[in-house]
Amino acid sequence: MSKRIVVLSEEIANKIAAGEVVERPASIVKELLENSIDAGATDIRVELEKGGTHSIKVTDNGSGIEHEDVPLVFERHATSKIHKYEDIFNVVSFGFRGEAMPSIASIAKVELLTRCRNDLSGTKATLEAGVIKEVLPAGSPEGTQTSVTKIFANVPARRKFLKTEATEQSACLDVITRIALAHPEVRFKVSANGKEMFVAPEVGDISKRISMVMGDDFSAHCIAINEQKENMSLTGFISRPEYTKSNSKSTYLFVNKRFIRDNSVTHAVLSAYRQIIEPRRYPAAVLFLDMPPEDVDVNVHPAKLEVRFKNAHGVYELVSRTIAHNLAEAETSKGNFIYRLQPKEKKNYSYSSPTIREKSPPIPFGMFSRQNIQKAINEDLLKRPFTEKTATVVESANIPAKETISFAGMKYVGQFANTYLIFEGDENLVLLDQHAAHERIILEKLKKTSGEKVVSQSLLMPEIINLTPGQITLFLECIELLQEIGLEIEIFGRDAIAVKAVPVTLSLVKISEIISDIADQLCDQNQTPYLQEKKEKILASLACRAAIKANKVLSYEDVAALCRELETTPFNLTCPHGRPITINFSLNEIERMFKRK
Ligand code: ADP
Ligand code: MG
Repeated sequence: MSKRIVVLSEEIANKIAAGEVVERPASIVKELLENSIDAGATDIRVELEKGGTHSIKVTDNGSGIEHEDVPLVFERHATSKIHKYEDIFNVVSFGFRGEAMPSIASIAKVELLTRCRNDLSGTKATLEAGVIKEVLPAGSPEGTQTSVTKIFANVPARRKFLKTEATEQSACLDVITRIALAHPEVRFKVSANGKEMFVAPEVGDISKRISMVMGDDFSAHCIAINEQKENMSLTGFISRPEYTKSNSKSTYLFVNKRFIRDNSVTHAVLSAYRQIIEPRRYPAAVLFLDMPPEDVDVNVHPAKLEVRFKNAHGVYELVSRTIAHNLAEAETSKGNFIYRLQPKEKKNYSYSSPTIREKSPPIPFGMFSRQNIQKAINEDLLKRPFTEKTATVVESANIPAKETISFAGMKYVGQFANTYLIFEGDENLVLLDQHAAHERIILEKLKKTSGEKVVSQSLLMPEIINLTPGQITLFLECIELLQEIGLEIEIFGRDAIAVKAVPVTLSLVKISEIISDIADQLCDQNQTPYLQEKKEKILASLACRAAIKANKVLSYEDVAALCRELETTPFNLTCPHGRPITINFSLNEIERMFKRK
C-alpha cells in the first residue's frame, strides 16, 4: 500500500461520516423526523418497509425547501439552522451540523419531493450513492417527502451488521415514539409494510402520550414531577417503587425536547431509588429537563445523542433530589411505606440461645424425606417457638464443583437480615441466600417445562396487556419461542397482546409483570439474534421475578420446602447469574478467626 498522503474524495469522506450518523435504519428515521420538526411540521407520516431496511419514507407538512436550495441539502455542512460558530451555543433546532442528509445520501438512494408554502410548483431531486441524478421542478403537496431506499447497498459491510427485520423495525418505532413523546403538538402516523402501526393525534399535553411510549402499566404506576431550580426546570413522570424493570434502559431523558443519554442523570435517578427497590431491579422514568440553550452544549456527539451541561452538578442534584422528594411524599402518604433518605440502619442480629437449641436434637437425616417432612413439621417442630425449631438441611459449600447440595443432618438456626438462612452442622456453619436458591429452583423448573412438554396453565379469560408498537413487533417475532416456555400469546389489535396461558411455575406472578419483563429482555439493544440465548435470558429474568425476595420473613415451612426443592434441583451451587447460593464456614475457620487456633 502506498504511504503517500492523499485528500479523500468528498464521496469517501461522506461515507465515513455516515458511519457516525447512520448506524442503522432507526438513525435515518431519527434524522428525517428531526428535520421535519425543525421545519415546523405539525403532521408527520412515516412508512417503513421490512423494518426500515428496505425503505423509509417520511412525509411532513413543514416549511418545504426552496428550489435553488435543494442541491445544498445534500452538501456537507450545508444547513439553514446556524450561520456563525457562536450560533451553536444558542441552537434551538435539532439539526445544525448539516451532515445528516449528505450522510444518508452517501449510503442509500434518496428521493426528495418538496414545496414551500407559497410556491406554485415544487422540486423533485434524486440521489444515488451521494451523487445527484436529477433536480427537476415537480408538482408536490406543501411540505417535504423524503424516501430512502437501497440502504447500505453500496456498503455491504454495514448491511451485514443489521439485525432481523423485527429488531430493526422495533428500533425505528422506538425512535418515533420517543420523538412523539416530546412533541405532543405534532400528529404522527406510522405504518410498517403497509399496516398501520400507530396514530398519535395532536394533543395538548404530554401525559396523554406517556402510555403510548411507556405502556399503560407505567401510566397506572407513575408519579408526575414538576420542579424549578434557578433557570432549570424538571418535569415528567417517575415510576412508583412497586413498578420496576429488569434493566436500566427505561429512563428516558429529554433535554430541551432532545432525547439524549446521560450516565450521570441515569445515576442520579438510580440513586434516588437505591434504598427502596430491590437490587437488580430498576425504575422507569420520563424526564424533561429544560434550560437556556447556552447552558447545554449539544455539539459533542455526531448523532447528537449526548450533550454536555454547563452545570452538571446542578443537574445531578436537581434530578436526584426531586425524585427522592417526590417518592418520599407519594409513599408516606400511602401509609404503608417509609422512604429512607438515610442509609438503612444496621440491625444487630440476635443469635438464638444455644442452650435452648440444645434442647431440640437435630432430626435425623432420614426423616427429611418428602413423605416425612410434613409429618415432622406437624407433629413436632411447629409446636415450638421459631427460635427453637430445628431442622435438618443443607450442604457444605466448599464442595467440588460437580457435587450438588445434599441434606446432611444439619440444624436450621434461623434467618439473618431476612435474607440469609443459617444452618448449623457438627463442623460447619452454612449461610444460604434465599433469593438465589429459589431463583435457581424456578429456572430449572421453567427449563424443564420448555425442554419437555409444556406445562402451562390456561387462563379462563385471556388477559389483554397493552404494549408499545416497538414491543409488539418483537413479541410477534417470538411467539413460538414463548410457546416453548409455556406462554401462549396472540397479537390483539394494534397495541395489545392477549395472554392465553402461562407456565404453571409462574402462576403466582402478575401476568403484566411477566410480560413487562419479557418486553425488557426483548428490547435489550445488545441482544443476540440467537434464539437459545434469548430464551435463556428471558427465563432467568422470569425466575428472578418469581423467586422469594430478599428481605422477606420465611416461615419454617417455607424454609423446609425451599431446602427440599433445592436438593433435587440441578446446578444448585449457583444462582442463574453465577453467584453462590451457599457459603460455608468450617469450625476450623471460625476458630482461627477467633484466634483460638
Ligand atoms: P441539519 O438538520 O443539521 O441542518 P441536514 O443534513 O439534516 O442538516 O439537513 C440539511 C438542510 O436541509 C436543513 O438545514 C434544512 O434546511 C433542509 N431540510 C432537510 N429536511 C427538511 C425538511 N423535511 N423540511 C424542510 N427543510 C429540510
Ligand atoms: Mg438534520
